[in-house]
Amino acid sequence: MKNNLDTLQRFVFENSAVRGNLVNLTQTLNLALNQQQLPKGLRKALGELMAASALLAATLKMNGALVMQIQSTGTLKLLVVECTTITGEALKMRATAKWSEDISDEQDLFELVEHAQFMITLDPKEGGQAYQGIVPLEGSSISTALENYMLRSEQIDTRIFLSCDGDSAAGMLIQKLPETMNQLTLDRDEDTWARVGHLASTVTDDELLHLPTETLLTRLFHQEDVRLFEPTATEFFCSCSRDSVSNMLRMLGDEEILSIIEERGNIEVNCDFCNALYTFDKVDAAQLLVSEAAVVTPSAKIH
Ligand SMILES: [Zn+2]
Repeated sequence: MKNNLDTLQRFVFENSAVRGNLVNLTQTLNLALNQQQLPKGLRKALGELMAASALLAATLKMNGALVMQIQSTGTLKLLVVECTTITGEALKMRATAKWSEDISDEQDLFELVEHAQFMITLDPKEGGQAYQGIVPLEGSSISTALENYMLRSEQIDTRIFLSCDGDSAAGMLIQKLPETMNQLTLDRDEDTWARVGHLASTVTDDELLHLPTETLLTRLFHQEDVRLFEPTATEFFCSCSRDSVSNMLRMLGDEEILSIIEERGNIEVNCDFCNALYTFDKVDAAQLLVSEAAVVTPSAKIH
């Protein structure tokens, strides 16, 4: 029985600046995606992105949200994954996709994108500066795109391995921190990095998805001194609320709100992430209006 379902586990290679994370998303993946009618290829891509966002969020000492997006002008318009970290709490994740026409189950992400950009946004909860980095989506997998991103925009050597079979997603990250100062330590870190990077790259999808953490680490790095930390749980959580939907509607403006009410009698908004339905009737809608003068009055519409 696998003991690491829906967990993120950090580990370090002792006496070096090389560290890693492993993640498994099973219930988290299913709860996040089962409400959405996703073609197989996009479900796989979202699963891999979710695993990647958890791996990356866990390397940051930040309470807040890490948002990963792939934007494209092709059939696929948008993939978005959000991972929120709060010290002492489970990693909270949600994800969604937008596309423009029929996609067959055989088509994978890279057949569906054009002029695609890979975007990472960090949004600290307790104030602090939001940060956004954008690079073209290059390579033939999400993991290589992310490795390129980390090297180019953060100057951090990172290896990332991702897998999603539709039922669960898993991933492993190895990173070399530019922490050490003296030449001796630098050389040793460089050696460790080259060695564990090579060992890590032998991991198979099956091992990533199905082996318990300790077994996997022993199998990959059996001659290394690896210290494994306590796991952090992951869970699906959607932060949408009636308030956030109200704010979104207010941004449409009074005129737009009134015209939807006029046309349809009420306003219905589905959350893209969790599919929750928010309904605003005439009375609710009146409370959204910014201008007092525009308040909906019983009109000729009521017969
Ligand atoms: Zn929602």
